[in-house]
Amino acid sequence: MPAADFNMNEIHWLMDMFNTVDVGLVVLDRDYKVCIWNGFMENHSGMLPSAVKDKDLFDLFPSIDEKWFRSKSESVFILKNRSFTIWEQQPYIFRFKNYRPITGKADHMFQNATFIPLSNTMGEVGHICIILYDVTDMAVNKKELEEVNRKLEQMSQTDALTKLTNRGHWEDTLRKEFLRIKRSGGISTLLMFDIDHFKKVNDEHGHRCGDEALRNIADLLRKTLRETDIAGRYGGEEFAVTLLDTDRKGADIFAERLRSLIENSSFYFGEQQIKMTVSVGFACFQDEFERYEKWIEAADKALYFSKENGRNCITAYKDLS
Ligand code: GH3
Ligand code: MG
Ligand code: MG
Repeated sequence: MPAADFNMNEIHWLMDMFNTVDVGLVVLDRDYKVCIWNGFMENHSGMLPSAVKDKDLFDLFPSIDEKWFRSKSESVFILKNRSFTIWEQQPYIFRFKNYRPITGKADHMFQNATFIPLSNTMGEVGHICIILYDVTDMAVNKKELEEVNRKLEQMSQTDALTKLTNRGHWEDTLRKEFLRIKRSGGISTLLMFDIDHFKKVNDEHGHRCGDEALRNIADLLRKTLRETDIAGRYGGEEFAVTLLDTDRKGADIFAERLRSLIENSSFYFGEQQIKMTVSVGFACFQDEFERYEKWIEAADKALYFSKENGRNCITAYKDLS
């Protein structure tokens, strides 16, 4: 076989491979005009190579972030080094629709890309090649995994019955706030409250009514909170709230608003109207507390005093000492 025939065959094969391979191949010149456009690019863009040849890339695809793309490419032209982009930084370069059935959750294709400098026989880089990889499956899987992890984390921090922060996570946030104040100063107040005679609700109306009552109290608490307050279910029918940047005066107002809201609310369990009251105790941060547990003990002491003092009332730890 003559050498020329062999080369023609090779070129045919190369062209076949070039057009069939499942990655995008684009060659651009120094002015960002398209020189080469393979089958992958044609299939996903719907544009024939003849329609894009010698056209300005940014005119063809106005959705490309031109500034970003140019700075990425310029370094390839000038430094003659390869460069990479990943979908986590830039979800895609070319906005192509996602047609993959299993990953119907993404409406566009996620792409990784490699930019390669193409030099001529003189070693000058007048063109670059962009290799585009469809990484939609991987990206969607990763996003789903992240979403599941996020939900799991949230579940591990949330009390299932009341949807408030659970005890473990709430204590974590209190410990952080305690350390922050110790270090940088400031004032926050820890408030705890416990439903009065809750055992009676269970005994008289059943445990399911008791559960409903706890949800009801949590809803009333949520209505009273500001965005910065952190409320948790501390125990069975005991709740805790960290009032950030709140002094004695602010805590008094919050506590009274919560106490009277609960006293004046009721809910129906079937035909039964259920009313409840709560006893409240709070402790403003004091530098004498050497550990955050001392802060909890102080608020708990104040709460205990409210119970002893007739219930449905508020006690500040400061007034006990
Ligand atoms: P006090 O005014 O002194 O606080 O009286 P109390 O009856 O509220 O206090 P006690 O500690 O004697 O009873 C608390 C009750 O809360 C007992 C327990 O069965 C009930 N409880 C704790 N967690 C739950 C829960 O998740 N659901 C229901 N339904 N009841 C709960
Ligand atoms: Mg109680
Ligand atoms: Mg209790």
